[in-house]
Amino acid sequence: MFRQGILFVVSAPSGGGKSTILRRLRQNDPGLAYSISVTTRAPRGDERDGVEYYFRSVEQFERLVAEDAFVEHARVHGNYYGTLRGEVDRRTEAGEDVLLDIDVQGSLELKRKRPDTVMIFVLPPSIATLERRLRGRGLDNEEAIGVRLQNARNEVRYARHYDYVLVNRDLDDTIEAMRTIITAERCRAHRIDIKDAFGEIEFLPREEPSNV
Ligand code: 5GP
Repeated sequence: MFRQGILFVVSAPSGGGKSTILRRLRQNDPGLAYSISVTTRAPRGDERDGVEYYFRSVEQFERLVAEDAFVEHARVHGNYYGTLRGEVDRRTEAGEDVLLDIDVQGSLELKRKRPDTVMIFVLPPSIATLERRLRGRGLDNEEAIGVRLQNARNEVRYARHYDYVLVNRDLDDTIEAMRTIITAERCRAHRIDIKDAFGEIEFLPREEPSNV
């Protein structure tokens, strides 16, 4: 049975545990691909080009915008980020479901263009928890932490525009909830061609029942 791949957007303020959640989700689900974004920010730690992101200059990014290569793009924390249309289309047309880690502006733009996108927002239990996690991971200086916290306060206001909101109190519980959402979305009737699913079986009524 063929089904077009589903786009699953996951947004969370940075430090919210999102990358761990996405990594663990994909480890246990070979049907889930990850869309690698283009960014103009510098690589952090041991990040590699073509793995976490495609790292590009501002000029290269602007060229991609001019070529209409992005299905959505946004400026986040002072850098540019974009989702390549080709990357997403290639996978969904092959029937792969795609996880996208994108910010609130980009997510809303994507939802406008692809209304069937499933949007999931992961909230930290509190801003204080988020601040502790940001400091704990030791990747940002004080100024960057301040910017990320301020952005987090703004971003959480958008959570109500999403299809699902999860509070990440416990990583295992959050991952379990995400798996449940993904499973349920894969079973949504409108995504499945019932005739295709049952092949030659003819027992389905030919007409809709009159009492629905
Ligand atoms: P980071 O620099 O910490 O990896 O990501 C910063 C923010 O950029 C995160 O909120 C992440 O979701 C967002 N982001 C990453 N890739 C994209 C993208 O392709 N488009 C948009 N709009 N946001 C992205």
